[in-house]
Amino acid sequence: MQIDLSNNFDALRQRVRAITDKYPGEYWRELDAERKYPSEFVDEFSKSGLLSVLIPTEYGGEGRSLSEAAVIMEEIQAAGCNGGTCHAQMYIMGTLLRYGNEDQKQRYLTKVAAGELRLQVFGVTEEHTGTDTTKLRTFAEKVDGGFKVNGHKFYIGRGQHSDLMLLLARTTPLDQVKKKTEGLSIFLVDMREVRGKELDIRPIRTTMNHSLTEIFIKDLFIPDENLVGELGKGFRYILDSMNAERLLIAGECIGDARYFIDQATDWANKRELFGRKIGQNQGIQFPIARAYASMRAAEMIVKKGTAMFDAGQKVGEEANMALLLASEASWEAGNAAIQTFGGRGFDANYDIERKFRETRLYQVAPISKNMILAYLSEHVLGLPRSY
Ligand SMILES: Cc1cc2nc3c(=O)[nH]c(=O)nc-3n(C[C@H](O)[C@H](O)[C@H](O)COP(=O)(O)OP(=O)(O)OC[C@H]3O[C@@H](n4cnc5c(N)ncnc54)[C@H](O)[C@@H]3O)c2cc1C
Repeated sequence: MQIDLSNNFDALRQRVRAITDKYPGEYWRELDAERKYPSEFVDEFSKSGLLSVLIPTEYGGEGRSLSEAAVIMEEIQAAGCNGGTCHAQMYIMGTLLRYGNEDQKQRYLTKVAAGELRLQVFGVTEEHTGTDTTKLRTFAEKVDGGFKVNGHKFYIGRGQHSDLMLLLARTTPLDQVKKKTEGLSIFLVDMREVRGKELDIRPIRTTMNHSLTEIFIKDLFIPDENLVGELGKGFRYILDSMNAERLLIAGECIGDARYFIDQATDWANKRELFGRKIGQNQGIQFPIARAYASMRAAEMIVKKGTAMFDAGQKVGEEANMALLLASEASWEAGNAAIQTFGGRGFDANYDIERKFRETRLYQVAPISKNMILAYLSEHVLGLPRSY
């Protein structure tokens, strides 16, 4: 397929920058120190419509492509902000858009598009089963008019800062299905009424400010109308969202890499030692130049993957490679920036160390890079399944 690399989406980038300019390093530094959620930033982005660009115009969104959504996330990161605080809405809504019914879309998507509801929680991971998703233990038992859910979700982002959660739970026990991917279902949970009651949400402190939580679910009633798509088909539905998630977060990593490269270049051009700019030394400039090359190469795969996604093509290979290469490129750029800044690379006042902590996550979550390599080995190269 032909990929149009001429469109840089400059107008969209400027729209993002008009907001990010109001949220400089000091804003993120203060929140980081206290592990607080950037509510003003998320509210402003939500109201601007930029976090719901993927919602079609008939439900109040802008009906834009994944390529454009990835550009928005890239630009947020390149400005030094932390899109990890609000990116889930972008990829979760795909499941609702593709598999939700008309009533669900009218009830929820219109309000998400208007910035009135936050759809920021994707409840998949569990403590005991981790990457081995199909073994998850949260169970939704069929009862009159709906489902009764019990379980425990672990390492769930933004649990305390969302109105809605897309929840993956088992609806048929594992030993009663032919394939382990069957018997899992997706539910839309309205968290507003059940927070602190059927949902006990507890914060988990992490290396970076990510509003991570665990969610204990006890006798939660979910009405029939909040089942998304068909019963037992949920695993297939979330796979689509996961490819979108990988591509969007790869876009974020490109933004992080740009941030580090810009900062490192600027500092290398300013800092003078031994009577010359430190950037004149090849020991300083080569790691930045190499990180730039890695970032540009990864960017090509992100663009290819998002363009293929928008064209309705299969993107498993590209989405996985995009996240692998972009997360390694941002890490490499972060390392080059720390080296360039010397001691200041570890000084919170310069933001490099904060961004470095933030970008490291993307080699582990949303998917650990071992699982990406296992996917490529098995599904692309035809090697035996290793797990
Ligand atoms: C900040 C943060 C935010 C998150 N947000 C969310 C969220 O919003 N929603 C959600 O559902 N989850 C979320 N997660 C969970 C995240 O997706 C998982 O942490 C991640 O997928 C890894 O699972 P695990 O931590 O249980 O590690 P484990 O599954 O215990 O794996 C540990 C290590 O072993 C490796 N490994 C396991 N099996 C194999 C194998 N067969 N071959 C090679 N290596 C293997 C893994 O790749 C990993 O490196 C988040 C995690 C973090 C840290």
